[in-house]
Amino acid sequence: MKCPRCQASVLSEQTTCSACGFSATLLHNLLGNQWVRLERITDAAHCLRLEDTRRLEIILDDFERSFPQAFFATYLGTLPKNLNVAELGFWLLNQGAFNTHSVSRRNDFGMVLVVDPTEKTACITLGYAIESCFSPKVIARMMQTVGSHLRKGAFGTAIEATCLRAGEVLRKHARHMQWQPDAAVMADSVSDIGLQPLRGGHRSSSRSLAEFPAPRT
Ligand SMILES: [Zn+2]
Repeated sequence: MKCPRCQASVLSEQTTCSACGFSATLLHNLLGNQWVRLERITDAAHCLRLEDTRRLEIILDDFERSFPQAFFATYLGTLPKNLNVAELGFWLLNQGAFNTHSVSRRNDFGMVLVVDPTEKTACITLGYAIESCFSPKVIARMMQTVGSHLRKGAFGTAIEATCLRAGEVLRKHARHMQWQPDAAVMADSVSDIGLQPLRGGHRSSSRSLAEFPAPRT
């Protein structure tokens, strides 16, 4: 991943950026180091209309269908002064348990678009496993497109365009990449068949029987 402060490359086992000294501990002090449950679309700033959200859910589903290990998530919110969009994106990919359709999706195959509508800033953060697919030039183009939509207040279009473009980029690379699941993850017996969430924060999609009305007699 890229350091959220200086954009230098940071290895997954590194806790401090060797270029600028940025440490994930700083973010943990600010945001905590627990896993947080998140929907794929978190609109804390209320930027999206209902039809935007519905449309985006379909696009995110298509993305997940095309790339069985990857997911796309987005967060829109006004951030505190001591936190920037890149830092939040970095933290979300490290601590977010996103409510994707398949629990086996891992965050190193994830990408998050963070938008701060108040500061008018946005950032795309890529997981370790997919970041090499996106050249700086590709990311710069994507950010230009995001910016042009956000300036018009077209939040839904900005997210849609980013997800579709990411799909194109990954599709181009998919032929050369080996999409092999991690052996350590596969070894987990019961959780593998979907009976238990692999990532701690996942919500169960089933409802308890008590929520259903009793049949009339
Ligand atoms: Zn750095």
